[in-house]
Amino acid sequence: MAAHLSRKVPLAELHCHLGAAVTPAIMWSIAHAQGIKLPTRDYWDFRDLITVHPRRPKSFDGYLQLFHWTELIQSSPIAVERAVYEVIGGAYRKNNITTTELRFNPMKRNRGGEQDLDHIIAAAVRGMDKATLEYPVKPGLIFCLDRAFPFELNEIIAEKAIAWRDRGVVGVDIAGPESATFRVADYRRPLRRARQYGLGITIHTGESGPVEEVARVIELLEPDRIGHGVKAAYDPRAMAMLRERGIVLEICPTSNLNTGVVSGWEEFRWIFDQFHRNGVRYTISTDGPEMLKTYIRDELATLGRLGILSVEEQQQIAAASLAASFVPNVSEVPLPLREPARRDVVEREEA
Ligand SMILES: [Zn+2]
Repeated sequence: MAAHLSRKVPLAELHCHLGAAVTPAIMWSIAHAQGIKLPTRDYWDFRDLITVHPRRPKSFDGYLQLFHWTELIQSSPIAVERAVYEVIGGAYRKNNITTTELRFNPMKRNRGGEQDLDHIIAAAVRGMDKATLEYPVKPGLIFCLDRAFPFELNEIIAEKAIAWRDRGVVGVDIAGPESATFRVADYRRPLRRARQYGLGITIHTGESGPVEEVARVIELLEPDRIGHGVKAAYDPRAMAMLRERGIVLEICPTSNLNTGVVSGWEEFRWIFDQFHRNGVRYTISTDGPEMLKTYIRDELATLGRLGILSVEEQQQIAAASLAASFVPNVSEVPLPLREPARRDVVEREEA
């Protein structure tokens, strides 16, 4: 039986960082168009600088270092517009992703305040609009607060998300490195405000940090979704909270393997088994397809090939990701009703 999801099934990418989603060749072009002095004149060295590769040690901080150059290159309105446009169109062409929720921290793209934040945000909206004119896609933007930022800066980012909510900003996230100054409880008020204005809330937790943080984030910040959350599999209380509140996890397998958060596919087999047994809802994303050199369909195909997820389960995930999107009306797009497994087999035979 085929282990692959039909390409006709549209997908939503719910967890994708702008800094990890632009093809290296386009990043190279954007850098040169702006006259940015890169540390190398060799394209292949540059590619290694902004993507994972076997020689790079697998660690969470090491992974975050890959963003140094991508965020710098994306730090102008022209760069942000092109980057957003290219990611959304590319996701549709390569993977039939009709809904890309693209997340980024606008304050990591304004050269420490040299450039106006609203110009950066307006550029992202233009890039999104341009992609929408070319392809049948429904994208949305999520603004990332940063664990290592002072609270006051994060508060401004949350307020910007609220201000731009009618222009395609659909949610707020907290991302970034583990930080001694970050306290979950501080973010109750700004995130509650964002929710009151109709924005979706997703928080990076249960990834590199402590297992216990997942339950604390759920309790204090009441997210709709959680970025990663794989460590919840080790906390029955967190899984019960996820199930009862219908919170959806955004699982990014290859990312977790590259950051060393999950040790291998066998651990993932166990993690998914825990989620299935405990009724935890989840979707599959990439975290950043170009930096991690994987697309959603690669992730699903690997999980299918290893017998971790059946084709039926992959179809449920495709439907769940559309249903859990923060982009308005995405879940109302009718999914093709079909007898999945049989048609997949036919397609394969024809191929
Ligand atoms: Zn992420």
